Amino acid sequence: MARPRKPSDPLTWPEPCTRCEEHHQLVASWPDGRVCGYCYLAAKRTRGTCACGHTGVLPGRIDARPACRACSGVKLNVDCTSCGAEDELHSGGHCWRCVLSTTVHRLLTNPTTAQIHPALLPVATALKAMDRPNSGLTWINQPHVTDFLAELAAAPTTSHDALDALPASRTRDYVRGLLVEHGALPRRDELLARFKTWSDQALDRLPEGEHRDIARRFVRWHLLRRMNTAPGEVTRGTFLRSKQTTTVTIDFLNWLTDRGTTLSRLTQSDIDAWQAGGPSTREFASRFLAWATKTSLVDPILRMEPHRRGTAHRLPAAEQSRAVQALAHHDNLTPRDRLAAILVLVLGQQIAHVVRLTWDDATIAEELATITIGAAPIMLPPPLDEPLRQLHAEPGHGQTAAHPDTTWIFRGHSPGQHISAAHLRQRLKTVCSTRAARLSTLSELTKTSPIPVLAEILGYNTATLERHAVAAAATYSRYIATRR
Ligand SMILES: [Zn+2]
Ligand SMILES: [Zn+2]
Ligand SMILES: [Zn+2]
Repeated sequence: MARPRKPSDPLTWPEPCTRCEEHHQLVASWPDGRVCGYCYLAAKRTRGTCACGHTGVLPGRIDARPACRACSGVKLNVDCTSCGAEDELHSGGHCWRCVLSTTVHRLLTNPTTAQIHPALLPVATALKAMDRPNSGLTWINQPHVTDFLAELAAAPTTSHDALDALPASRTRDYVRGLLVEHGALPRRDELLARFKTWSDQALDRLPEGEHRDIARRFVRWHLLRRMNTAPGEVTRGTFLRSKQTTTVTIDFLNWLTDRGTTLSRLTQSDIDAWQAGGPSTREFASRFLAWATKTSLVDPILRMEPHRRGTAHRLPAAEQSRAVQALAHHDNLTPRDRLAAILVLVLGQQIAHVVRLTWDDATIAEELATITIGAAPIMLPPPLDEPLRQLHAEPGHGQTAAHPDTTWIFRGHSPGQHISAAHLRQRLKTVCSTRAARLSTLSELTKTSPIPVLAEILGYNTATLERHAVAAAATYSRYIATRR
């Protein structure tokens, strides 16, 4: 990886480098002249075929063309003491590939048997053969990857179940992919498996008893059966819809318990109160209710209006809708910034919670997108869903096979970390000041954002903003309050 170059400094280093002609510290005297540290590093990494026919490292220069050590007379140690290859050395006289190979071997060796489990051999081979040994080594040396591989090596058998027992991470998914790709594990429907694991844990949110048993039956005999019998692999849409249905079902049953009633005593007024008391995602309980009706668990005359396309709550006024549009379609902002702005500024969520959101908290179905912060899913009606969908389609920040990442929605710069609350607050400040300048008045902003949130982000005091808000008749924040 290229290090950022310092500016040329003729005062400190009067003699220029013979290759780049800039003034840096000179580190070697070669037949074509004295070279700086940057050119020295570049020379070690220059590979190709010399005019003499030798293929390998070409650190020298003859008539401005790269040349091998023998032809150019450049003295440089690029001979790996373990494999004999001519290559840039990592440490102790070993090339990067040899160090990668040793590292993989060490990590995948079972400490008890002192051998690599035969099932893991294809993985070891694949990891050792990574295209770029230096980025491969950087990846493997991350503590979460090292830990994961060590746990894998210690597991007595390798199976999907054994992998499932390890902490969930992208590393696990990546290694599972390698095992499947190399025939060490059978291919399985990953989304179906993920839904099973997820729903097993989710059902624990119901206290032991009748409601949990019913929900478990609903998942097994309705949702899973449909997933199993559908042709081909489970699609992402089906997976997300099943998760959402399960979540709403659990919420519904817990809500009934809190209301002091049970599913067997369900009345129409319970259903009406459920729907009236929360976001329209509550209507997804109709899927559960339809099944409960079919299996004679509830009275067949009960009705819950199912969610229909286009019935999502509309923004109350054209003007407010315009303000939200401006935020949702702000051209100069990345989808990540826009999503954050919508969650924090429009929906009044706390920054500390927003930065920790993962893709498991999001549901992106064709007809509806929701995000769960705290207990309840928050609906993102169009156009507020657009940044979330965009971000989901291209999450950014190097989600590559060699660098499996975490599932944070707001990824930070360091691998495996989410964006920091301080950083996000800073980004939102920019959003607000840009907007405030454009709209040339704060009163416009107070229509779209809960006052205390704005005050915190903009650094205004609440009373000042309150005055603007009163002047602008901030109906939007009231709208938000009723929506939550
Ligand atoms: Zn140079
Ligand atoms: Zn040569
Ligand atoms: Zn080597």
